[in-house]
Amino acid sequence: MQTNVSTEEKPKTTIPQKFVYFFAAGESEGNAGMKNILGGKGANLAEMTSLGIPVPPGFTISTEICTHYSEAGGKLPEWVRPAVTAAMAKVEAKIGKKFGDVKDPLLVSVRSGARASMPGMMDTILNLGLNDQTVEGLAKSSNNPRFAWDSYRRFIQMYSDVVMGMNSSLLEVTLEDLKEEKHYKLDTEMTVDDLKILVKKFKDLVHQMTGQSFPADPWEQLWGAVSAVFSSWNTPRAITYRELHSIPASWGTAVNVQSMVFGNMGDDSATGVAFTRNPSTGEKAFYGEFLINAQGEDVVAGIRTPQPITKIAAAASGQMSLEEALPHAYNQLVEIYKKLEAHYRDMQDIEFTIEKGTLWMLQTRNGKRTAAAALKIACDMIDEKLITEQEAILRLEPSALDQLLHPTLDPKAQKTVLAKGLPASPGGVNGQIVFSSEEAVEWKEQGKKVILVRVETSPEDIAGMIAAQGILTSRGGMTSHAAVVARGMGKCCVAGCGDVDVDYRNETMKVKGYVLKKGDVITLDGSTGEVYLGEVKTIEPKLEGTFERIMKIADGVRKLKVRTNADTPKDAQTARNFGAEGIGLCRTEHMFFGPDRIDAVREMIIADNKTERERALAKLLPMQRDDFYQLFKIMDGLPVTIRLLDPPLHEFVPHTDEETKDLAKRIGTDFERLRSKVKSLHEFNPMLGHRGCRLAITYPEIYAMQVRAIAEAACQLISEGKKLIPEIMIPLIATDKELDTLRVLTVNEVKKVQAEKGIKFDYQVGTMIELPRAAITADSIAEYADFFSFGTNDLTQTTLGLSRDDSGRFLGTYVSTGILPKDPFMSIDQQGVGSLVRMGTDLGRRTKPHLKVGVCGEHGGDPDSIEFFHRVGLDYVSCSPFRVPIARLAAARAALLGKKLH
Ligand code: ADP
Ligand code: MG
Ligand code: MG
Repeated sequence: MQTNVSTEEKPKTTIPQKFVYFFAAGESEGNAGMKNILGGKGANLAEMTSLGIPVPPGFTISTEICTHYSEAGGKLPEWVRPAVTAAMAKVEAKIGKKFGDVKDPLLVSVRSGARASMPGMMDTILNLGLNDQTVEGLAKSSNNPRFAWDSYRRFIQMYSDVVMGMNSSLLEVTLEDLKEEKHYKLDTEMTVDDLKILVKKFKDLVHQMTGQSFPADPWEQLWGAVSAVFSSWNTPRAITYRELHSIPASWGTAVNVQSMVFGNMGDDSATGVAFTRNPSTGEKAFYGEFLINAQGEDVVAGIRTPQPITKIAAAASGQMSLEEALPHAYNQLVEIYKKLEAHYRDMQDIEFTIEKGTLWMLQTRNGKRTAAAALKIACDMIDEKLITEQEAILRLEPSALDQLLHPTLDPKAQKTVLAKGLPASPGGVNGQIVFSSEEAVEWKEQGKKVILVRVETSPEDIAGMIAAQGILTSRGGMTSHAAVVARGMGKCCVAGCGDVDVDYRNETMKVKGYVLKKGDVITLDGSTGEVYLGEVKTIEPKLEGTFERIMKIADGVRKLKVRTNADTPKDAQTARNFGAEGIGLCRTEHMFFGPDRIDAVREMIIADNKTERERALAKLLPMQRDDFYQLFKIMDGLPVTIRLLDPPLHEFVPHTDEETKDLAKRIGTDFERLRSKVKSLHEFNPMLGHRGCRLAITYPEIYAMQVRAIAEAACQLISEGKKLIPEIMIPLIATDKELDTLRVLTVNEVKKVQAEKGIKFDYQVGTMIELPRAAITADSIAEYADFFSFGTNDLTQTTLGLSRDDSGRFLGTYVSTGILPKDPFMSIDQQGVGSLVRMGTDLGRRTKPHLKVGVCGEHGGDPDSIEFFHRVGLDYVSCSPFRVPIARLAAARAALLGKKLH
C-alpha cells in the first residue's frame, strides 16, 4: 500500500537553477542587464556594486520566485529557503556580524523591485532582525541606545503594517499621542525611555488587533517579509498601477535583502533622494532633498520638511544644505552621481543614506520626468555627446507628448493668487476641490472636473489622483509621493503648499483669509506652483524650442507621412501648426450640422422626388463650396482628402414631435407628412444600414452636389493662382461595382464643372477600406481607386462584429481578463483587423504598385498602431490635430525600431 503520497502541488513552472543573486564589493552575481529576473532595483544594486560605488552587501531573490509564490497559492515554496540561508551566510561573512546575534546583530532591509519601477507601490521593511534581545545588543555595540530603540519602533511599525496587515494609523496615533503628551514637535526629540514605552505599547497593540504576538525570531521575520513582498505584487493598488502603465502581471517582483546602513544614528547621519537633473524642467542641475538623523521613507513621507541638497537650492529657502552640513559626504555624492549619469547615459533618480559621515548608495534608476523635462534632457544630452539623435528619439515616449499639447494658463489672464507651493508637475488646470480620493472618483464619474486637495498623498490615493485634473498638497517636497506619482502620470501637481490649511473634517481649505468649501473652483499652475481662486483662462499650446527640435529630428527619420483629420478651418490650422502634411480625412457631414444649413439638409432628406431634392441641394452647394475653398486655402497645396457624405440620413432629422412640428413650420410642410417621413427613415441597425456610398447609389444627386462643390472650389483657387490636388474619397465600399459606378459619377461631374469654368485641374478618386469584403477584394477595387484609406474604426466594428457605441459594457472585462490585449478601438487589433489592413494593402498594390495607402481611423494617432502601420508599409497616417506631434515621433521610432530588427 502506498503511504507516501505527497500533497504538495508540483510547480507548473520549472524551478530555476539559480534564483538568489549575491552582491557585495568584488563579487556581484548580477548586472544592469538582468532586470527581468532581478528587477530594476536589484539589477542596479549589482551594477553599482561592480562600478565600485559603496552599496551595502545583500542578495536578490529573482522575479521567477514571485510566480512560484503565486502558483503555490501565496506560499513560499520550501525549496527556496536553503538558497536564501546560504546567501545570508555570505552577507554575514562580508559584514562580520550575524543575523539574530544578541550581541552585535546584523540587520537587513527587505525591498521589492519589479522590472519597471513602481514608485510607492510596494513596501520596504527596514531594520529587520530586531527583537527584545538583539535591540539591547545593538544599543551596546553602537553605543547609541536611542538609535537602537528608534530602529526597533520603526521596524515594528513597518512590519506590523506590511506583513501583519495591521492598520498603520493605530501605531501612528500612539506615537503622536506620546509626542503631544511630552510637548515634542519632532520625532527626533523622543528619548530612549519614550521609545522603550512606545515599543511596549506597539507590541501590545499589535497583539490586541491581530491576535498574534509580534514575531521575535529573526528568521520568522525574514520569511514573513519576503512573502509579504511577493504578496504585495497583487494588492489592489499595485494592480491599478500596473493597469495604468500596461505592466503585465506575469512579470512579478524580485525581493532584495540587504544589510542595513543607518541614517538615524545622530546628526552626522542622514537619508536622502536626488535627481541628477531637474525632473520637472530638465534643467541640468543636481537636485534633491535629505533629512538629518532619519531613515528610509522619512523624506518622501513628509514627516519633517526635507532640506535641499545643494547650497544654491537651499539659499532660496534659508535652509541648511547637505553641501554645508556634511561636505565630505556631499562631495562623494556629487562624484557618484556624475559617474552614474555617465554610465547609464540618462538622468538618474538616486537614493542614499549617510551613516556617521559615510555615504552609501541604496538605489539608482532612470528618473521619471515630465514631457518637457524629457525633451530638454534629450536635447542637452545630444549636445553633450552623451547620446545620439536616434537614441534620443528612441528614448522619448510619444504618448507622453500629450502633456505638452494641452492648453496652459494664459499669462495675461486676470487672476487672484491664493498661495504658492512647489511646482511639482506642470500643467494649468482648474476644477472643483474635493478632499478625498473616493470623492474625486465619484465626482469624476458624474462628469465633474476635480482638484484633489490633500495634506499629503499615499498609495491609497492612486485612483483619486487618476480621476483628478490636478493635485494640491499642503505638505511634502518635490520627491513626495504626490509629486513623483503625478509626474509619472503627467498630471498637474502643486505640492508642499504650506499656506493652505486643509481641514478634512469640515471639508474646507483655509488660505489667505479665504475659506474654500468642497466644490469651490480653483486653478493650479504646476509650472510655477501657484494656486489661484476660480477658473483662469487658458491658451493653446505651441511647438517651439526643444519640442520643435525633436520633431525636426523625428521628421528626418520617419517614413510614414502624418496627416490630420480636420473638418473645419480652425482644426486644419491647428494641425498645420503641429506639422500635419495634409488632411487625411475631412468629414463633410460635420459641415451639414451648421445651424445655417441643417434645415436645407433636412429638406433634401425628406424630399419626395428628385426635383425637390435637387432644389434643396442647390441651397447647400454654395455653402459646401465655401467650406472646401477655406480648407484648401489653409492647406495651401498640401493634399486634402474629402470624404463624401457617410452617415445614415436619420441622424440629421428631428426626433421629437416638438422639433418635428417646428421644422414643419420653418420649411412650410405638413407635420404629419414630415413625421411619417422621419419614421420611414428609422433603421434597426443604422451602422450597417443605408449609409456611405449606398446613399449615392440610391440618390446620386447628393454626391454630385458635393463633387461639384469640390470642383468649383478648386477652379476658384486655380484661378487665383493657387495649386491643389483634391482627393475625393468614397466611403463604405463593399464591391468594385459600387466604386465603378460612383467613380463614373464623380468624373462626369468634375468634367462638367471644368468645361463650364474652362479650367483644368488634377484630382484623385479613392475609397475608404472599412468593410472586410473590401479588404478581401481590394485587388478588384483598386482598379477604380487612385488611393485607399483604411477606415479602421468601422473596419474594427465590422471585423469584430462589435459596436463601438455599445461595447463599453463588456469590453472592459475583455481587456482586464486578457481576452483582448487592448481596447481594439484605441489600439489596432493587429492579429485580426491588422491582417485585413495588410491584405488590403498588398492586394491593392498588386493591381496598382504605386497605390497610395493611408489610415484615417482613431488608430492613426496611437503609437503602437502607428508602429504596425509602418511595418505594413502604408504611406501615411491621419489623426486628430492634437495628436500630430505624437504621430510624428511614433513614426520616427517605428522607422528606427524597424532598422534595428533588420
Ligand atoms: P521604494 O521602492 O519604495 O523606493 P526602497 O526599497 O527603495 O523602496 O526603500 C525605501 C528606502 O528605504 C530607501 O530609499 C532607503 O532610504 C531605505 N532603505 C532600503 N534599504 C536600506 C538599507 N539596506 N539600509 C538603509 N536604508 C535602506
Ligand atoms: Mg516605498
Ligand atoms: Mg527606493
